[in-house]
Amino acid sequence: MTNQNGRFGVHGGQYIPETLMNAVIELEEAYNHYKEDAQFNRELTDLFNDYAGRPSRLYYARKMSEDLGGAKIYLKREDLNHTGSHKINNVLGQALLAKKMGKTRLIAETGAGQHGVATATAAALMGMECVVFMGEEDTIRQALNVYRMRLLGAEVVPVKTGTGTLKDAVSETMREWTSRIADTHYCLGSVMGPHPFPTIVRDFQAVISREMKAQLMEKEGRLPDAVIACVGGGSNAMGSFYHFIEEENVRLIGCEAAGRGIDTFETAATISTGRLGIFHGMKSYFCQDAYGQIAPVYSISAGLDYPGIGPEHAYLHDTGRAEYVPVTDEEAVEAFEYLSRTEGIIPAIESAHAIAYATKIAPVMEKEQIIVITISGRGDKDCAAIARYRGEDIHD
Ligand SMILES: *Cc1c(COP(=O)(O)O)cnc(C)c1O
Repeated sequence: MTNQNGRFGVHGGQYIPETLMNAVIELEEAYNHYKEDAQFNRELTDLFNDYAGRPSRLYYARKMSEDLGGAKIYLKREDLNHTGSHKINNVLGQALLAKKMGKTRLIAETGAGQHGVATATAAALMGMECVVFMGEEDTIRQALNVYRMRLLGAEVVPVKTGTGTLKDAVSETMREWTSRIADTHYCLGSVMGPHPFPTIVRDFQAVISREMKAQLMEKEGRLPDAVIACVGGGSNAMGSFYHFIEEENVRLIGCEAAGRGIDTFETAATISTGRLGIFHGMKSYFCQDAYGQIAPVYSISAGLDYPGIGPEHAYLHDTGRAEYVPVTDEEAVEAFEYLSRTEGIIPAIESAHAIAYATKIAPVMEKEQIIVITISGRGDKDCAAIARYRGEDIHD
C-alpha cells in the first residue's frame, strides 16, 4: 500500500531536516532487513505471547448485542495487554528492532503517558536507557503516569514550549533525536511522523487484525461486516483495519474525538475539520487555523487529543475505503458508562468513542451481521476524570 518514498497517495513522505535523513534511512534499512528475519520474528512473537499476553481475546458481547437488538458485537480486547493498551505491540517491536540495530537508548513522546509508560516498560525489560518527553501541562494532569515512568527507570522531561501538550512533546523528541542519533532510537507512538514510522508502527499493530480475522473465522466462520476503532494518530485503528483492507465488504470505521462538537473550536476531529498540511515530518490532514497554523485541539480523551492523523488514514479517507466519524465527549462518556454496566468492562475513554458509534449503527443492522469493536485500552486511568465530568470529585 506504500510506495518507495513512504507515500500513501499524496500523504506521508519525509519532511524532515537534513540532519535526520541518515537516521530514517538507517531505520528503514534495518526494518526492511529484520521484518523478513525469522529469528527477529520468533523473538517478537515470544515477547507478544509471554510478556504482553497475546493473543488478546475476541469476546462476544452478548448482553450488549441483545440490548441493542441488531448486529452481533464482538470486542477485541487490547485492554487486556500488559500495560493496559495496544501501545505495547508497537513498543516491543520497535525496542527489539532498536536493540538489533545496536542502539542503547530509547526516546519517546507521550501525551497522557500511555505510550511513555509502554516505552519505559520495554526499556526496563531490554536493559536500555529511556528518556520520555512530555508536555509540562500533561505532566501535571497525568502525575501518576509520570511516577510510573520514573519507577520503571525512565527520565521524564517536561516540555515547556507551545501549549505544553502532545504536539510539543513530539517536536521536542524529534529535536532531541536530531542531536543524538548514534546510540538513540526514537520510539514513535503512532502511525505518524516521517516515513518509515507510519509503516513500521502499522506493521507491528497489524497483529490486531491478523488475530481478529482468525478468531472470528473460528467462532463464526466468516468475516465481520464492520470493524470500528477510535483514531488519535491512528495506530490501533490502522492495526485493526490492515488485514481487512482488501476485503471490500468489510466496512472500516474510524472514530475521531469531536470534543464539544465539530462546529466548535474545542475539537480534535481531524478528518471532519482539518485540511491538508505538513507537520511532524509528514503530509496529511491537520486541524489548522485560518493562517495554516496548527490549531490547539481539545478532547476529554488525552489519547485522542492530537491535531493530525496518520497519512495512511488520510489516504483511506481520500479513496473512500474507510469512513471517519466524529464522536463527542458526551457520547463517549455515555458509552464508557454503558459498557461498564452492560458487560462489566471499563474501557479507556479513547475506546469509548468507538463503542459510542457502534451503539448507533448496531440497532439498524441485521441480526446476522457482525461488528468488531477494538477496545484499545482499559479505563482505570480515566475514572477520576469521568467522575469529575459527572460532577463528582474523587481525587486521583
Ligand atoms: C494512545 C491511545 C489511543 C490513541 O492512539 P492511536 O495511535 O490512535 O491508537 C487510543 N486508545 C488508547 C487506550 C491509547 O492509549
